[in-house]
Amino acid sequence: MVIVLKQNPDEQKVEQLIRRLRGMGLKIHQSRGQHSTLLGLVGDTSSVDIDWLRAMEIVESIKRIQEPYKNANRKFHPQDTVVEVGGAKIGGGNFCVIAGPCSVESRDQLCTVAAAVKQAGASMLRGGAFKPRTSPYAFQGLRGEGIKLLLEAKKETGLPIVTEIMDLSQLYLFEQVDVIQVGARNMQNFEMLKELGRLHKPILLKRGLASTLQELLMSAEYILAGGNQQVILCERGIRTFETATRNTLDLSAIPALRAMTHLPILVDPSHATGHAEMVKPMAMAAAAAGADGLMIEVHNDPANALCDGQQSLTPAQFSDVMQATQAILPFACR
Ligand code: PEP
Ligand code: MN
Repeated sequence: MVIVLKQNPDEQKVEQLIRRLRGMGLKIHQSRGQHSTLLGLVGDTSSVDIDWLRAMEIVESIKRIQEPYKNANRKFHPQDTVVEVGGAKIGGGNFCVIAGPCSVESRDQLCTVAAAVKQAGASMLRGGAFKPRTSPYAFQGLRGEGIKLLLEAKKETGLPIVTEIMDLSQLYLFEQVDVIQVGARNMQNFEMLKELGRLHKPILLKRGLASTLQELLMSAEYILAGGNQQVILCERGIRTFETATRNTLDLSAIPALRAMTHLPILVDPSHATGHAEMVKPMAMAAAAAGADGLMIEVHNDPANALCDGQQSLTPAQFSDVMQATQAILPFACR
């Protein structure tokens, strides 16, 4: 980080600032030019509050050289993180597909879909028990009952389960859940992220509706900084001016994140496009671009689904997507 000081700064205040920064364990290189003074900060600046510096009378501007995320940064952790869930591995060249209904609706529905996605080669079962719906009048999920059904489906199929938490008050219900999903709408629920950072359980963190990749990594940083190293990122499309698709799938997030972080990167072509027929091409493209896996919505009866039927694949369509995606993997960019 470089701090540019205003012309003729109050020397006492400069000394005071340097003392404070040294107290934070940083080394300070001063460079005094004819018109300006620069302070170069050497060391871990991730905990230096830029707003605190900006508010100082003697400070003209600040330039960050190092990214504000340290734990998620590939620079400090060059090896890919591999998250292991049950028998499944995500990251480090292991391709993992999570599939299942948008929401858990009934025992029958869930167990039918679970058996079908397992048969087609999925490694984990998804299903929402707590649903973040735009309308308060829409189906909100079976809540605790939904989690019980997921555990039953896990017992029946052996597939680890992934389900979304919407509020920390629900956390006690997630004890036997294999992967806790933080949805797009909660990506910046920092209190929740901090608490999930204290767990020893994989967290699937979805990109916010209008979040930059740096913001996504700062959210991952909350979990990692708490001691939980098992974070899986998920690109699920972002809000743009386009209306032909539910969101705009940012496939460039895959190579961009790959360079920025060591964390595994999944792609959710279902929420990204909102249309079942677009899931296959986007799943194949994500695999080709080097994603570590996919999250796909599958329903035994999409036309009558209680949530996201339009983007849900039938088991047969899912099986076709699995085969098409597998065929791409040998040629994927890594
Ligand atoms: C989901 O995966 O069920 C979901 C609600 O996705 P998102 O948070 O990406 O909208
Ligand atoms: Mn959904």
